[in-house]
Amino acid sequence: MKVGRRRLVAGNWKMNGSLAANERLLDALKAGLKPVAGLEFAVFAPFPYLAAISSLLSGSFIGWGAQDVSEHDVGAYTGEVSGSMLREFGCRYVLVGHSERRQLFGEVDMQVAAKFAAAQRHGLIPILCVGETLEQRELGATEVVVGRQLDAVLDLTGIVALKNAVVAYEPVWAIGTGKNASPDQAQAVHAFIRERLALRSKEIADAVTLLYGGSVKASNAAELFTQPDVDGGLIGGASLIADDFLAICKSAENA
Ligand code: PEP
Repeated sequence: MKVGRRRLVAGNWKMNGSLAANERLLDALKAGLKPVAGLEFAVFAPFPYLAAISSLLSGSFIGWGAQDVSEHDVGAYTGEVSGSMLREFGCRYVLVGHSERRQLFGEVDMQVAAKFAAAQRHGLIPILCVGETLEQRELGATEVVVGRQLDAVLDLTGIVALKNAVVAYEPVWAIGTGKNASPDQAQAVHAFIRERLALRSKEIADAVTLLYGGSVKASNAAELFTQPDVDGGLIGGASLIADDFLAICKSAENA
């Protein structure tokens, strides 16, 4: 149970969408979601759509965010998008260190930590994604990997920064594969994350929102979300289908 912790269900659209498809999806979400005390909903869209989304969701209780942010604030960094630019579009959140950024674009722990710090400098709430590959899990290295990913951020920013951040445990082997972590597997790593943070501050560790991501579907969301250290979900594929995402949000309401 998550009394006192902010809960969140967020949709990571990845590199999907179009102006028309986004509008249809957001219309369906606005019609299907109702505000729930202590539970937030958000969508993470590709950069070019943020302006349209900030107007489509203006006045709505549904938040929005970006999928990445530069570690730099301004200057000669062609192709990058800064935290201050994201703030101008009303972004509340930003993903940092998604496994696709780490694996496909070579982002290393120090860079992810710098992005986390940049997000906070500009008043954004970073959602720090951590998680192990299948090979690492099979070698029994899940805690080493996740611990290292967390420590890179904590060493740069200090534990206090976690007061205004979210951590998403996303096992790489579960992302987009249709094979989710079992509720027990997810709970075990979430408990480990909280213990790791508690080494620096138990109070902050107890309060931080921890999301699970990796093949969450309407059929498995309820069992995942009722785990004691799971405070919501980061949803990829299923967030692109309104009925599926709404059903997942409903499971969080009842968790
Ligand atoms: C993700 O992209 O963060 C994700 C969890 O994807 P999926 O739900 O499709 O596994």
